[in-house]
Amino acid sequence: MSDKRVDDHADVVIIGAGAGGGVVARRLAEAGLSVVCLEQGEWPDRANYPGATPEWELAAAKQWSSIPSVRNAVADYPIDLTESDLGVVNFNGVGGGTILYAAQWPRMLPSDFLVRSTDGIADDWPIGYEELLPFYERTDRDFGVSGLGGNPMYPPGEDPPLPALPIGATGLRVARAHARLGWHWWPQSNAILSAPYDGRHACVQRGTCGSGCNEGAKASTDLTHFPHVVAKGGRVITGARVVRIVTDGAGLAAGAEWLDREGHAHFQRADVVVCAANAIGSARLLLASAAGTHPDGLANSSGLVGRRLMLHALSTVTGLFDEQLEGWQAHSGGLIQCLQFGLSDPSRGFARGALWELGSAGGPMKAVFAPRGHGVWGADHHRHVRQHLGRSAQWAILGEDLPEESNRVELSTTQFDSSGLPAPKIAYRVSANTSALTDWNIERATESLEAAGAWRVDSLRRLANGHFMGTARMGDDPSTSVVDKWCVSHDIANLLVVDGSVFVTSGAANPTSTIAALALRAADRLIERRAEIPRPRRSVSFGLSPLPRPAIESSPSTPVFVTQTLGTALRQRFERLADVVIPGGDGMPAPSEIAIGGALLDRVLGVRPDLAGPLLALLGATADEPDVALSVLENDPATARTLRYVVAAAYYLSDDVRSGLGYPGTVARPVGRFEYPEYLAEGLLDHLVTDVV
Ligand SMILES: Cc1cc2nc3c(=O)[nH]c(=O)nc-3n(C[C@H](O)[C@H](O)[C@H](O)COP(=O)(O)OP(=O)(O)OC[C@H]3O[C@@H](n4cnc5c(N)ncnc54)[C@H](O)[C@@H]3O)c2cc1C
Ligand code: SF4
Repeated sequence: MSDKRVDDHADVVIIGAGAGGGVVARRLAEAGLSVVCLEQGEWPDRANYPGATPEWELAAAKQWSSIPSVRNAVADYPIDLTESDLGVVNFNGVGGGTILYAAQWPRMLPSDFLVRSTDGIADDWPIGYEELLPFYERTDRDFGVSGLGGNPMYPPGEDPPLPALPIGATGLRVARAHARLGWHWWPQSNAILSAPYDGRHACVQRGTCGSGCNEGAKASTDLTHFPHVVAKGGRVITGARVVRIVTDGAGLAAGAEWLDREGHAHFQRADVVVCAANAIGSARLLLASAAGTHPDGLANSSGLVGRRLMLHALSTVTGLFDEQLEGWQAHSGGLIQCLQFGLSDPSRGFARGALWELGSAGGPMKAVFAPRGHGVWGADHHRHVRQHLGRSAQWAILGEDLPEESNRVELSTTQFDSSGLPAPKIAYRVSANTSALTDWNIERATESLEAAGAWRVDSLRRLANGHFMGTARMGDDPSTSVVDKWCVSHDIANLLVVDGSVFVTSGAANPTSTIAALALRAADRLIERRAEIPRPRRSVSFGLSPLPRPAIESSPSTPVFVTQTLGTALRQRFERLADVVIPGGDGMPAPSEIAIGGALLDRVLGVRPDLAGPLLALLGATADEPDVALSVLENDPATARTLRYVVAAAYYLSDDVRSGLGYPGTVARPVGRFEYPEYLAEGLLDHLVTDVV
């Protein structure tokens, strides 16, 4: 800490370059304020996204995984989940979660802001839908949202700036079922371009949004916001991990202390500090900024920083259809939505509602390992893959999660990031209300897919998700909230929080459109009231107490795969094992017939060098006889999983195999030629509205 550098003063320092940080940075920079954004990750390079390559599913499962502990990149920090029922996903870099998100862009419903008034539980927000509406509309334009206006679940307002994306054969099938059932459905709004817009390309429907969008059609703030910040002279400092927000003697925020890639400490002074590190990262930072006058963390006189964490308990319901729907060809987020059960109805036995979002099927690896990551191996393998690939429709069910003070982010005492900052620890239990809501909606979604003709329906509960809310709630009363309705801390007049932390309740909608609208509203107010915001003293002491720096164990390095290590004998052994895992038949070749142990295996290990070590170990330890191989597969689940994964990854890269399945790979099919959508021609929305054009 002796080589601390004091950076130039800025009007505003923003911590985190994700969705909320991007919106605020752009608005303030365009208004002429000097802005510095500190981001622990890097600028993503679109050319590196794997979506346009045949191997994309392999990279998406590791380097581009949304699970930080799987990705394990330098920018990532550990998240202690030892006391959590749910896992979390995120991305750390310029763009934040918007780099990997599905870009579904629904808004919260008007009644979501009034939970106490409508249900007598939780709390009302200090603002309502109507106050947020102009900001929803402005952010829709900034991000480039495609959708269909007139959804009867919302009050009237501007239509989305771009027409809805195609709903595909999958969406059409389920929409027809809902029209027959008389249930709500609507083309989903997505922050994905259905036509060229703002210098960006339209979506080409490769369905690889979850590992970054090669086309730039999906809105991510590295494309939609930060270039504007830089153009206006704002600075985005990457590789900058903020470890603490520093206050002056009067208790105002004076700036952020951060570490660069080499571990040098810096202090960024600013008149205003904006936390935009998401509802986990911001809570962590506020708690980690505890000091003499605020021993329980910054802005925490209410004791609520980190508390009331809400995570949508995501579930999926997947139906399989006889018809080939080519479900790999679509945007990977929402085709259609259903809000039939979006409003609270106490007669169901639980409070609050759910939003369902229909997704498409994905590529061959998803089909191979369906359902639940297991797959079917041996003689029935090909039938299983044919039944799944392109032929499934999946409802993702997001249920409103109610705030509970015991669900929280705190500082881990056992896990630390590479800078020595305590990891956030999530203590989260799924409530009885959320469980009941989930079970009930799974039953209804099953009915939906059966009505659409699914011959088999499976469900999965409690999936990891990236919707973090509530850890610095807004409110009018400083004793029961952390920030006011403008996202300004009650305790510290020049400290703002502009991410999902400020949510009072979670609603059921994916949160980013609401995060963005709230952030824009907060930025407008900051600009209006700037002259009244007290300024911190220029000279402050910082870094007085060194951070607790535990001895960090370096993680084992990824084994570098050297193709020469895998000589002919081991490659032949791999082929013999592969023939056991996926026998030829049913019109499909055996792995050895496509020389799976040669170039196909090299392609897999080229993209996934992390698999080389386990593969070499298992090949070295496995005998050649098929019976022995079968016994290994049956008795050693970890080895079996590695072998099956590598075999499937190589097998489904083969052109022969792909053409045998009728799977063309990730082909670009630009949208943008708009014909009158079939669902309107068929009148599939007529039971909801009569004047959709
Ligand atoms: C796989 C996936 C799918 C998703 N799908 C959807 C969807 O379809 N629709 C939707 O609405 N939402 C979706 N989300 C959630 C969405 O990404 C988030 O709601 C949104 O990104 C939150 O914005 P934010 O600004 O609060 O935080 P983030 O976007 O998470 O950004 C926070 C940034 O702060 C940085 N940061 C954190 N701590 C520090 C520190 N100490 N120092 C410096 N920098 C720091 C991080 O590196 C990160 O870049 C998805 C998320 C994921 C991961
Ligand atoms: S489907 Fe569209 S939004 Fe998704 S990655 Fe492809 S071009 Fe981008």
